Amino acid sequence: MAKVTFLEDRCKGCELCTTVCPKKIVVMSKHRMNAKGFHPAEVLEMDKCIGCAFCATICPDAVITVEK
Ligand code: SF4
Ligand code: SF4
Repeated sequence: MAKVTFLEDRCKGCELCTTVCPKKIVVMSKHRMNAKGFHPAEVLEMDKCIGCAFCATICPDAVITVEK
């Protein structure tokens, strides 16, 4: 199973990563806020991740790392 990790405090909430995930599992946290005051992106259903790394590639702030 692939594993996606976020350097959460670097996220600026732009939502780009949520638009490219083929599994639609990257979502913006509704309840948490990061150090910058944004709702950060997160993956809730990690078991559905196929490790394509589209999310990591599109993130302008290198927040996301994907391990296969
Ligand atoms: S690696 Fe691919 S499937 Fe997994 S969360 Fe990122 S975009 Fe979605
Ligand atoms: S693309 Fe990067 S900065 Fe934008 S919401 Fe996703 S993790 Fe945050």
